[in-house]
Amino acid sequence: MKKLITILLVLCTVISTLLCGCDGNDKTVSETESGKPEAEFMDYVDVTKDIPVTKSTDKYRNYYEIFLYSYYDSNGDGIGDIQGLISKLDYLNDGDPETDTDLGIDGIWLMPIMPSPSYHKYDVTDYYGIDPQYGTIDDFKQLIAECNKRGINIIIDLVINHCSSQHPLFVQAKEEVKNGNLDGAAKYFNIKQFDVKPDGWSNITGKWYYECNFTPQMPEFDLSGKAARDEISKIVKYWLDMGVGGFRLDAVTYYTNDDTDGVEFLSWLTQTVENINPNAYIVGEYWVNVPSSISEMYESGVDSLFNFPFSGLDGNMIDSVNTNAGASFAASALEMQEILMRGNSDMIDATFLSNHDQQRSSGPLGKDTVKMKMAAAAYMLLPGNPFIYYGEEIGMGGNCDTDPDKRTGMVWSLTDLEGYTQLPPGAKNTYKPEQGVDEQLKDENSLLSYYKRIIKIKNQNPEIARGRITETIDTGKKSVGAYKIKYNDTQLIVVHNMSDHARTVTISKSEHGYTGLCADLVAGEAAEGEQPYITLDGETLYLPPYSTAILK
Ligand code: CA
Ligand code: CA
Repeated sequence: MKKLITILLVLCTVISTLLCGCDGNDKTVSETESGKPEAEFMDYVDVTKDIPVTKSTDKYRNYYEIFLYSYYDSNGDGIGDIQGLISKLDYLNDGDPETDTDLGIDGIWLMPIMPSPSYHKYDVTDYYGIDPQYGTIDDFKQLIAECNKRGINIIIDLVINHCSSQHPLFVQAKEEVKNGNLDGAAKYFNIKQFDVKPDGWSNITGKWYYECNFTPQMPEFDLSGKAARDEISKIVKYWLDMGVGGFRLDAVTYYTNDDTDGVEFLSWLTQTVENINPNAYIVGEYWVNVPSSISEMYESGVDSLFNFPFSGLDGNMIDSVNTNAGASFAASALEMQEILMRGNSDMIDATFLSNHDQQRSSGPLGKDTVKMKMAAAAYMLLPGNPFIYYGEEIGMGGNCDTDPDKRTGMVWSLTDLEGYTQLPPGAKNTYKPEQGVDEQLKDENSLLSYYKRIIKIKNQNPEIARGRITETIDTGKKSVGAYKIKYNDTQLIVVHNMSDHARTVTISKSEHGYTGLCADLVAGEAAEGEQPYITLDGETLYLPPYSTAILK
């Protein structure tokens, strides 16, 4: 790795020297002139063109969240399925790092695939099967093999806070409790006596109740008990042995109750998975907006917890883009990292703009492609593992009032309707997409092309995901945020211009130890007469509206 990074550094230096034609005169450009470089336009050279791309072999990946139901239907029943996903894997990653016809993600999070009475399948009736709507165990094994060929790590949703009220074990538990037997299946669940029904519990018989914080159809396991833990051990071993590369843990927030210490349970689960496969990756849905609380959960040793405070409509990333707050974005990224690392200095931050429970990010970003591009660069160029919600890379939108409306069919093409899925039950969407995957693949200025370029840049610069932010750099402009990432012996600087105007900033080479520009991303359109691409002239960095430079 070190050797490769040295090669990258040398390449960056050579290319940037060629590009900049540095004259040694470090011009100071005043605020009033910002946006107008003094020099004539230089020819554009793509600085990323010849930098080698590396394939990830560790836990650091660009993940893609898929709701199979709405992805691609292979057999014409209107419901997406495993074979449908297999047929679309070349879109996600064709396995060849030299080609750029694919998105380039190298991790997939599959939302629940196990048999369930609901369309979303977050209430499982059999932890050792595949829901027939999606296919068979053989289909799933084929999916894993196809992912392995392409270097994609596949993780599955593990819903073990609760199961379905139709799970045979719970049906049995209810019957036994009615007959006064608490030593059988009842031991797996949180079943207790109360005089008055507490919130989040449902009655079985007499004074006996079971815990069910979501709905009565989702009875919760007793995660502190031996019965449930033995069963969970078997479940994770079954899937890891089959070849899944880890788990996304559902509802981690609810692991904690009067009897169970959530940190202790998550620590046990992490250890259980690591003992079977130390390379398996775990990310938990611990849905809280208090960073210090996430930090406490990181004490369990889990690889990742989703960074909810940064996600969503009011989250730091979308808000920063909408308010042109580049400098404060960089500052909060550093602050957040420091808080999370208190819980576990090895934690891998898991960032995202939105997921299946939230409004699609195109909404709060005003359906503005430029802002969607800027937001993508903002979260994906932070250290850690970003999670792209399927369709986010093409700016899918729509009414998101109900959960099913947040999970509508992937738009593959506006003209070729092969593989289209029906609306999930309960969705009222009347969304008319302007572009699909096919259209955006042909358009080099599309959002999809921007995602592809971001991922390519990340694969060229492995320290972005693996490093730590060590400092922010004051550019003197509120809209321009800059932070330094260090990884082993190498470092780079990410600079975001979140302004709708071009900005010119000066970043000292001697103080910050960089030699040139190694990546450029331009989302916004320059004003007439202004240079439309990023340039570095000595220490003077010119950034068009909504653009990102990486200095190395
Ligand atoms: Ca189907
Ligand atoms: Ca490729």
